[in-house]
Amino acid sequence: MSIIIPMSRYVFGPVPSRRLGFSLGVDIIPRKYCTFDCIYCQVGRTTEKTVLRSSFVDPNDVIDEVIGHIHSRQPIDFVTFSGSGEPTLNKDLGSIIRALKKRMSTPIAVITNGSLLDRPDVRKDLAEADVLMPSLDAVTEDAFVRINRPAGSVSLISMIEGLRALRAEYRGQIWLEIMLIKNINDTSQHLEVLKEVVTSIGVDKIHLNTVVRPPCEAAAEGISEERLSEIQDFFGSTAEIICGFRKDHVRSSQEENWEESILAILKRRSLTPDDVARVTGLTRAQADEGLIRLLGEKRVKEHVVDGVLYYVATK
Ligand code: SF4
Repeated sequence: MSIIIPMSRYVFGPVPSRRLGFSLGVDIIPRKYCTFDCIYCQVGRTTEKTVLRSSFVDPNDVIDEVIGHIHSRQPIDFVTFSGSGEPTLNKDLGSIIRALKKRMSTPIAVITNGSLLDRPDVRKDLAEADVLMPSLDAVTEDAFVRINRPAGSVSLISMIEGLRALRAEYRGQIWLEIMLIKNINDTSQHLEVLKEVVTSIGVDKIHLNTVVRPPCEAAAEGISEERLSEIQDFFGSTAEIICGFRKDHVRSSQEENWEESILAILKRRSLTPDDVARVTGLTRAQADEGLIRLLGEKRVKEHVVDGVLYYVATK
């Protein structure tokens, strides 16, 4: 069976996500506005490092696009705000979420770096989301600055206070992500304090990640699978390892305009040829053929990390 996907400016995927099943991405931030400039970012260096919230897009266009995709018979488990920058920088985020909740039953997730959670207006905007996925990579100022390279007014204290305030007010699920970087935040000493802080905040799940896709800085080195497992044991039963796509989530239908769909994802994250096959429902041979064509047209480029081939969009 093939399905017609509406053309998209703000919506990408659905991407088979380990955490969210088939996740329809919604990107309401221009590339690359962010409060951070993380060394592991897959989108690239932050060109607009800011904490100023703005209306970047017409909220009605975003809402119409999401609803169009919801009605297009694709498998969608979550509508997820994420993409080219920090979604809470969009000051219309709350009104978009509230409007979507009135028009669809699909749950909404927001992936945020957590840097603006100390602001009441941001927490109010997130109140109606079903799942919030903030990050906290470090609990020493040195590691925080080295990994996240935050905008001037964002401090480690404001990050932790923001997470505590969120937990006190927010009734949905909080799944906290920790990106582990070799020799920066993976020492036992640092992890002891991180666990203490995370436990005191009281999140519902801890998601452990490491660098497996091409990061923007070569210094951002991932940790081994063995070390990840040790750290998972250390954090206990709420901790899960979330690197990579779920291998059991495969599209059973092929998209007719899959190339545009894949390019929309490749602007925001890198994919292996196997990922492309899973996302589109193509066979691996068809995915290879299509990627080679896009490579020839210079619309994608290749990266190899630890012997694994990834594709990213050229622009
Ligand atoms: S990883 Fe996320 S928070 Fe960090 S710079 Fe990239 S978009 Fe911003």
